[in-house]
Amino acid sequence: MKNSSTPSDEQIEEALKKVFDKTHTVSSQSKLKKLVDKELKKNKSGVSPARLRSIAINTDFVKLEIHSREGDPKKIMNKCPVCAGKLKHVKNLTIWGGKVTIEFSCKNCGYWTGKKKRIPTRYVFHLKKK
Ligand SMILES: [Zn+2]
Repeated sequence: MKNSSTPSDEQIEEALKKVFDKTHTVSSQSKLKKLVDKELKKNKSGVSPARLRSIAINTDFVKLEIHSREGDPKKIMNKCPVCAGKLKHVKNLTIWGGKVTIEFSCKNCGYWTGKKKRIPTRYVFHLKKK
């Protein structure tokens, strides 16, 4: 049984739709959360930013723009820092130097990183043009 005070994925997606009916771009995750919480107001408790982000990624009408800074090259990444999805390892052999560069990418949300592990710092949400 679902906890009645927690909005369901469907309710959050519905609220996201209402938000993007009124606006085409939301410039940060906290702004998006505020707007969605406002739409969900009859629904008691709000939504957590990470959950909101992952639901937004999985809709067909929101496009996520990831702003990031360079991180620690030694950092080991097992999961996508954006959506906790599985990161795909992409190995590139350079022809002349014979060096292997490794990149990681996430199919789910579009996050990618090279050697310097990109750390997401800000998210911008766009209405996907149909
Ligand atoms: Zn991801």
